[in-house]
Amino acid sequence: MKKVLVLEDESSIRSFIVINLRRAGYEVIEAETGEEALEKLKEFPETRVALLDIMLPGIDGFEVCRRIRATNTRIGIIMLTARSQEMDKVTGLMTGADDYVTKPFSPAELTARVDALFRRAGGDEPLPGGEIRQPPFLLNVRNRTLEKNGQRVKLTQVEYAIMKFFMENPGKALSREEILDTVWGRDYFGELKIVDVNIRRLRLKIEDNVQTPTFITTVWGYGYKWGG
Ligand code: CA
Repeated sequence: MKKVLVLEDESSIRSFIVINLRRAGYEVIEAETGEEALEKLKEFPETRVALLDIMLPGIDGFEVCRRIRATNTRIGIIMLTARSQEMDKVTGLMTGADDYVTKPFSPAELTARVDALFRRAGGDEPLPGGEIRQPPFLLNVRNRTLEKNGQRVKLTQVEYAIMKFFMENPGKALSREEILDTVWGRDYFGELKIVDVNIRRLRLKIEDNVQTPTFITTVWGYGYKWGG
């Protein structure tokens, strides 16, 4: 779920941006006017980066930027400026934008800027206070709690951290080393076995049948995977 909003009224430029961001793995939400962009952000509050053109019919990109920032300090904002808009850059940065790209720009330059902001805006991390919902599970990031079918599952902090790592990476094989690094930290020098011990305990708590686990599956000789 790497959502980026693109606000640009010129359809040829917009599709150029959209195609390149999609190629780079982003889910792109398009808007033609500032008003539409603000509506879309309300609809998709998990959007992490917004690219805003400045010259638009209706409210301009600066005003959009101001209005976004009034309620959202976390989203990364990149202004799309024209070469002649030297002053606009300055103003744009002052009204709360994080970066700007001058037209015409190359696909590589554009995606590099978006990637950088995306990482700074928290990447794939869930929003603070957010939750990860993967039925029958619901992980509440603020309370650090897990529910299965609406029932609280009591977890240790380590088990919670493993669950979060899994639920952030559904369907991806995670090596035991990766799990160890993420949950215990890179400078922890315990044994890999600690991962297996905790997984075994987690399975007892969350699986329907521990003999044939379906949520945490084993990737033989490698590690574990969330989901089959
Ligand atoms: Ca324009």
